Amino acid sequence: MKLLLIGPQASGKGTQAKLLAEKLGVPHISTGDLLRAQTGEIRKEIDSYIVSGNLYPNEKMLKILKERFEREDCNEGYILDGFPRNLKQAEMLDEITKIDKVIEIDISDEEAVRRLGGRVSCENCDEGYNLVTIPPKDPDKCDKCGGGLVIRDDDKEDAIRKRLGIYHGDTEPILARYGLVKINGEQSIEKVQEEIVESLGV
Ligand SMILES: [Zn+2]
Repeated sequence: MKLLLIGPQASGKGTQAKLLAEKLGVPHISTGDLLRAQTGEIRKEIDSYIVSGNLYPNEKMLKILKERFEREDCNEGYILDGFPRNLKQAEMLDEITKIDKVIEIDISDEEAVRRLGGRVSCENCDEGYNLVTIPPKDPDKCDKCGGGLVIRDDDKEDAIRKRLGIYHGDTEPILARYGLVKINGEQSIEKVQEEIVESLGV
């Protein structure tokens, strides 16, 4: 079964994809991980895009994905996570593979802001914490080095809401393109997984 998992930041999509991959015995293909795992010339090229603040081009991403899908462990399917992020990419993806089912893990913007809002990091060693879910022993200090904890610009509420806006605008049109199952992501990890599995009828 070729599955596509979609959801906003903090929806728990990555966690669910990993659990589901184990359950179904198919690989979890995260495009973020896939890009990070590249080596040699492709690695240098990816880095040059990141350094200049540009997105890695669709055509190149598709080529990497196509090669990944051709590996033997994908014979029974896969769980794709992180691509496509907009309608254009979805159309391009359809040229190289046929997605059987799309699952959206849905959480409200308020919940996403709540989950992401507690994120702080050490200004000295960059270790990350979440004051809500994985708090440091001392709320003002890094457990590892005692450095001060700050909220990164990316974790400020304005930035989070901006990303959610992009998600709603760009990603949701993809959902209309496929037969979609919507799962309430504001439940426990176990319950979300259970509903995904049920929806697949496996
Ligand atoms: Zn630190």
